[in-house]
Amino acid sequence: MEIIRIPKIMQATAKGHLVRGRTIGFVPTMGALHDGHLSLVRRARQENDLTAVSIFVNPIQFSPAEDFQGYPRDIEVDTGKLLKEQVDILFMPDTKAMYPGGFLTHIEVEQISERLCGAFRPGHFRGVATVVAKLFHIVLPKRAYFGQKDYQQTRVIKRMTRDLDMDIEITVCPTVREKDGLAMSSRNAYLSAEQKRSAAVLFRCLSEAAASLESGIIRVQDITRGMQQILRDEPAITEVQYAGLFDPVTLGEIHEIGGDALLAIAVKMGDTRLIDNMLVMMKKER
Ligand code: AMP
Repeated sequence: MEIIRIPKIMQATAKGHLVRGRTIGFVPTMGALHDGHLSLVRRARQENDLTAVSIFVNPIQFSPAEDFQGYPRDIEVDTGKLLKEQVDILFMPDTKAMYPGGFLTHIEVEQISERLCGAFRPGHFRGVATVVAKLFHIVLPKRAYFGQKDYQQTRVIKRMTRDLDMDIEITVCPTVREKDGLAMSSRNAYLSAEQKRSAAVLFRCLSEAAASLESGIIRVQDITRGMQQILRDEPAITEVQYAGLFDPVTLGEIHEIGGDALLAIAVKMGDTRLIDNMLVMMKKER
């Protein structure tokens, strides 16, 4: 595995592969890798000549009050995992290489960036879109892989690639979960054993709402109310930021049953913010 830290060298390396007709599959990450990340890596390996992974904790997607400094970092363990997966290139720039003095350009994907998590994390998706656009220009992938776990992020990235005519295929891979349903996340490392057990309530809440919707016997308000109740009944949850049914494309609220829907949740357990979601097909009310 080649480890590259300098954007210009990464770009020159990618160009060298492109002129030889090789495709690059790319998995951008912030490190502290778990099986969710590795599922994207495996998919990229299956579908491309070369696999590139980036590890970069992107400061501009964190607000000053968020966990940029304390975000879990374990480069040695991560490198070992990527070697085992036979990744070809690990791109690991530092902050100065990505944002040299005088940096002024940002990408803003309007509307969908402001909903759901965007309402609680102002500027977050601007930071995400900007870094992903930079990484795409540096790594030059044919395909890039993202997890459904961060559903809103996948919508923002898809919109950006379409709006800016980026010739990159975006693949969304299923959320990888622990045995009890908890979505894997680097931030789960912040949870105590007890909080981690309680966090399985997110998946239970989504599953119950999905089952009600699929049975076609319930109203939207009842689903939303039911979800919020389940979450409020869990003492480890200190704040429910949102929980309900949303349009999977616009991310706006849904008021009527019918078609596809996104069930999505964001809660806080103490200082730790947890998100999860599920896509469902709703039947019309009987
Ligand atoms: P992160 O390191 O948190 O920025 O995540 C890097 C990529 O891994 C993103 O596309 C995430 O959506 C994806 N990812 C994170 N957790 C999971 C998971 N549990 N299952 C599938 N993909 C995930």
